Amino acid sequence: MRQDYLEIRDLRVTFDGFVAVGGVDLTVLQGDLRFLIGPNGAGKTTLVDAVTGLTPATGSAKFDGVELLGKKVHQVARAGVGRTFQTASVFEELSVLVNLDIAAGALRNPFSLLRARRGVPASVEAALETIGLAHLRDRRAGELAHGQKQWLEIGMLLVQDARVLLLDEPVAGMSADERAQTGELLRTVARDHVVVVVEHDMEFLRAYADTVTVLAAGQVLAQGSYADVQADPRVQEAYLGPAHDPADEVA
Ligand code: ADP
Ligand code: MG
Repeated sequence: MRQDYLEIRDLRVTFDGFVAVGGVDLTVLQGDLRFLIGPNGAGKTTLVDAVTGLTPATGSAKFDGVELLGKKVHQVARAGVGRTFQTASVFEELSVLVNLDIAAGALRNPFSLLRARRGVPASVEAALETIGLAHLRDRRAGELAHGQKQWLEIGMLLVQDARVLLLDEPVAGMSADERAQTGELLRTVARDHVVVVVEHDMEFLRAYADTVTVLAAGQVLAQGSYADVQADPRVQEAYLGPAHDPADEVA
């Protein structure tokens, strides 16, 4: 079976001379649920922005043989690479189902959205099941719980046929129950997608990460299992060093 992967080489992003991402190499395989962690300002969001066409960058980011750098946001999406933002961006006034319909149609014929729906597309039905919102399909997205909105966003990426999912702090602000459900969802999705999860919470990644990449000051500091990186003195230094913020502490 062919296995998808995202391959980032020497990725660099500077803002007015300030190096936010300073030459990152990162390879993420389908089936290997990857967590990207690091102190605030490490460059995690900037890395995701660079790969998805929101921020100019140099180096290379390839998926399925296609160079992503230099592409526009919609071209990156069409190449199979989707992302979520730190704040959920669903259509609050529309139902769960219509949000998914729009996502499913967004990359196809815009007029298909104007046709009366002749039943729920199989991809939308499958996504509803995967994200656990089948019973809430007619609920207005704005009435969903915080966690459910994040799941809907993940569902929107699935129906867009994203094969790479870059998720920026998807469990921030979630309850313990929602976190556990999200962890299971990510595990399921990572079986047949390339998944990179930006996360702070060490308990969460201890439970769900296959591989952890630690970013600090725009560089990859360490990579390995949770146990490997947690025991790495350089990682402890990055989290517990002079600019130590208790919220970033390694448990
Ligand atoms: P993280 O997501 O790891 O917390 P970010 O990628 O958001 O970090 O930010 C990395 C660094 O780049 C920070 O120092 C931040 O202030 C800076 N930065 C991010 N976006 C911009 C921008 N648009 N202009 C200038 N500096 C930026
Ligand atoms: Mg960030």
